[in-house]
Amino acid sequence: MEYQLTGNPFVDTGLLTLQAHASKQRGLKSVLPLTPELVVEAMNDAEGFGRWLAKANRQLNSFFMVCTNSALVNPSTNKHLKDTKELGLLAEEDTGWKDYLETLRRLQAELVERDDTDAPICESCGERTATNILKRVGRDFFPLAGSLGNDAQALPAASRAPRVCALCLIAIQWLPIGGILFNGKLACFQFTEPTLSQRFVEDTYRENRNRLASAKVKDKVPAYGSKQGATPAAKILIDRMRLMQEDIEFYELPKDVSLNIWAFSNSGASPECEVFEIHNPALQFLWKAAQKHYTEISELLKREVPNKSATHLLTAIENGTDYGGFYPRKPSKKEQGVKPASRELYELYQTRILNRTPATLEAGKILAPLVFEQLSGTEKKDKKAPKADQKLLEQLLKENPRWSKDAQVRIELRKRIAKFAEAGHFTLEQYVRLFPAANVANTERLSPEQVRELWKQKGSAIKATNQGWDLFWFYLHHAANGTLSFDKQTISQSTDSSEDLAMFTNPKIQQFARDVFAMQLERRGGKDKKRGLDYIKRNILDAFARGQITNARLREWFIGLADSHPDYKNEDWDALCRDEQGRDAIGELRFQMRLELANLYRIEKEVLDK
Ligand SMILES: [Zn+2]
Repeated sequence: MEYQLTGNPFVDTGLLTLQAHASKQRGLKSVLPLTPELVVEAMNDAEGFGRWLAKANRQLNSFFMVCTNSALVNPSTNKHLKDTKELGLLAEEDTGWKDYLETLRRLQAELVERDDTDAPICESCGERTATNILKRVGRDFFPLAGSLGNDAQALPAASRAPRVCALCLIAIQWLPIGGILFNGKLACFQFTEPTLSQRFVEDTYRENRNRLASAKVKDKVPAYGSKQGATPAAKILIDRMRLMQEDIEFYELPKDVSLNIWAFSNSGASPECEVFEIHNPALQFLWKAAQKHYTEISELLKREVPNKSATHLLTAIENGTDYGGFYPRKPSKKEQGVKPASRELYELYQTRILNRTPATLEAGKILAPLVFEQLSGTEKKDKKAPKADQKLLEQLLKENPRWSKDAQVRIELRKRIAKFAEAGHFTLEQYVRLFPAANVANTERLSPEQVRELWKQKGSAIKATNQGWDLFWFYLHHAANGTLSFDKQTISQSTDSSEDLAMFTNPKIQQFARDVFAMQLERRGGKDKKRGLDYIKRNILDAFARGQITNARLREWFIGLADSHPDYKNEDWDALCRDEQGRDAIGELRFQMRLELANLYRIEKEVLDK
């Protein structure tokens, strides 16, 4: 008979530890199947039943997070232990540890011999009948058992002691040797793929066993993970993954595996348990980071402040938000100046965790060096940049424009973007990939057709987002550090036309700009194209720059198109230019039209000049 994992993270970690121990005792590299015989083998060591386990648990600081007030360490029945603090010694005159082992021995006997089907079923595994050996299962034998007044009940036992079987209870006694310590809690790493859980526990078991082997009799042994106070869980994960990558050649993380980290403490008056869910894309990111950027990500994680979990990588991953550690920040006293993360690691995160597309990153990689070269004056080799530009650059490098209290910074940057569009360096398509409309946030599950329908609804005036400044700012630092340069080649290839514009902005804006352009060119120029283009430059593009394109002007164009086009009715205006409250909201629309019109003008001008 072979035991299966139970689904209870504490029990399973214990079972996997027991398995690792028995296999190690036999000198095997791979683990043996989990059978009743293996349990007996693990418990019966050379010194006598359960003695190795009892000594290990006494010395490991993690034992106190698993079992509280255990007979193994009770000072009233372990007087010698209390007086001498010889944790690694089982003194003959003490009775506490003997009671502890006697209970374990009887549990083991029950596990091997008992066969009654009437007894209630174990609430931990749901497989075997609950034990008769313990009258009441409390927190001395099972973590969080029946703890009232918080949400830590791992078992449905808030009002009474839980019913647990012998195997689950034995397994728990092995948990301290297989659990990882972090943030003052003990953590179980439960993957949906049991081989991964097994590997993680094996590594931890090996680590803890080495620590125990070199400990003196009075030493309290910190469990793995507690070396420098609190080790971030992400660091532990990455270290573990690294080990696996070194151990097993060509192993790739399964495509659908995910991970729950159960961090708990059973000690003292306030037992608690926290669960972190690490979904597959996050695991894939960590896996790749461990494989390709191990040193860099380890350095980043070392800088995390233990008690500020809101700023940790794992929290960012869990929330699907950006990670501050990738960005430059003010150096602390010890540091020289903190550079941004490498582009490769950053882009891995942006694509895997934040679902940003390569085209979006590309847009940032074009805009940032454009701005940098203009402000620093490197585009004109012989002339220095104007003082105002140098000052702006200094300010930009210091602070992400997204968070700048000085709104003028963003206004100034948008002016530059419009100028780049006129020069043919930056397009509407690129702009909207960098600054996708807030209207289409959280529409990843919708098809382009569905999103296009959304744009047609009343009150869908486009709302700009500020998130694009993060990417811009990151790449601006790379441009300033010389690790990213302006490359005209990338500009022509960068926009991926397979992505639907509707996923980033209202596609009607582009259409509107194109229709206005054609209408004005025809009306003002007729056969004389040059005259038409001159009019557009003077009265439209320059008027945009002077802030003279008003709501009324847009409305005029709209009505002008209504005669000849079916899509310029009143309800179309309500969808395109009005917000949910029915007010005209055209700020962002006007900017996007300007970019498109600048581009159309330039293309037509080039044809004419040939
Ligand atoms: Zn059970």
